[in-house]
Amino acid sequence: MKLLEDRIRRDGSVLPGNVLKVDNFLNHQIDPQLMDELGAEFARRFKDSGITKILTVESSGIAPAVMTGLHMGVPVIFARKHKSLTLTDNLYTAKVYSYTKQVNNDISIDRRFLDPEEKVLIIDDFLANGQAVQGLLDIAVTANIKVAGVGVVIEKRFQKGHKLVADAGIQLEALASIASFEDGKVIFATDK
Ligand code: 5GP
Repeated sequence: MKLLEDRIRRDGSVLPGNVLKVDNFLNHQIDPQLMDELGAEFARRFKDSGITKILTVESSGIAPAVMTGLHMGVPVIFARKHKSLTLTDNLYTAKVYSYTKQVNNDISIDRRFLDPEEKVLIIDDFLANGQAVQGLLDIAVTANIKVAGVGVVIEKRFQKGHKLVADAGIQLEALASIASFEDGKVIFATDK
């Protein structure tokens, strides 16, 4: 998606450890106009998939997920990373290793919000090694629900997550696909 690639070129910076910092429009400050366009694009790409709910992880997945839910006319549920006092024991949980924070998190979703007939679309901000998506896929298996697709705002194609999702036979849509970082610059798959 050219709009997003241009924004990454303009505002993104490459940090050590193959991390792209995009905290002025996605990971800290959020650009609602851009999120709206991203949500519309995900909705377009998955419009014929029969999706009943959007599934994401707090916190950076929520903004694009909500906009996608708005455009598709379906609810959005986010997995929580921290135990909340209002979350009871009636939970689906999975373990997720965080790429940027280098810690293990338990993610959890209240069972009441995932019915067996659900067909979900997983949305997240980044796809790196695929741990976050894997955690959501694990929950989907336990909850016995179908995953119709995975949509990520930015994928780092050179890391393991892309192959993990593709090998699972799930439709994967990345709105910006990064082929590599070279000398602190972002090289998109579309540049090649
Ligand atoms: P994965 O589980 O696919 O390894 O990593 C996904 C999660 O790690 C994303 O939800 C995102 O929060 C974070 N992440 C991974 N790579 C990057 C990156 O290059 N930049 C930023 N800002 N977050 C990243």
